[in-house]
Amino acid sequence: MSTADSECTASERREALKEVYLQAKGCVRCPELAATRKTVVFGAGNADADLMFIGEAPGASEDEQGVPFVGRAGKLLEKLLGEIGLQRSEVFIANTLMCRPPGNRDPLPVEIDNCHEYLLQKIELIQPTVICTLGNFSTKLLRGDPTGITRLHGQPEVLTLGRRAVRLYPIFHPAAALYTPRMLETLREDFGRLPELLAQGAPEQPAFEEVPELDEPSQATAPEQAVAASEPAAEPGAAAEQPDEPDQLGLF
Ligand code: URA
Repeated sequence: MSTADSECTASERREALKEVYLQAKGCVRCPELAATRKTVVFGAGNADADLMFIGEAPGASEDEQGVPFVGRAGKLLEKLLGEIGLQRSEVFIANTLMCRPPGNRDPLPVEIDNCHEYLLQKIELIQPTVICTLGNFSTKLLRGDPTGITRLHGQPEVLTLGRRAVRLYPIFHPAAALYTPRMLETLREDFGRLPELLAQGAPEQPAFEEVPELDEPSQATAPEQAVAASEPAAEPGAAAEQPDEPDQLGLF
């Protein structure tokens, strides 16, 4: 099954997400992070969520527990979700990086790059209609542009990621609002517009040419090659660490 296949059922997409998780949990693409992390924090929540949050990177508590946003910023995120009538189990929460940078330093560009394919696979399989980027790192990454969160927060835009269009909604990172009441007010206001954005449903999807199945690979046409190229590559960084019963799968 192609992970780009929009006809897949939610349960097929969830199974495919588990496969990505199994690859990710042994990832050694970033040698320093692989050597210092306790867990790969893949992401957690509803694998068929309409709303997905993307933060920066796991901190110490997340690294310990293998779950994103379980520290103070996470508690605030949950509170703000509650205020708009949502529980964290209804959304999917992930990060730009799956491994904790030592000492909570900023993610390095090469690390963001190494983790990008995993993030795109999650988005492709979960098929959210709204992606809420929390702070600068995920906003800049998904928009492919250095414009910062201070200018962009609270302004939804339609973005095509892979084969799907989503409503991107950048907001401040909850950690930034922990100690600054004005920032918290802004974050709360931006959160308040999420229900309306979700109610709009998925944006119009880009049209992709149907590619006929061909018997002979040598007969591949240019568009077919383009589709093949957009599918996730084989995992070069995955190590053999793949237990029979993965421990984080109950998280989504
Ligand atoms: N901050 C993040 O960006 N992600 C987490 O998972 C926790 C804190």
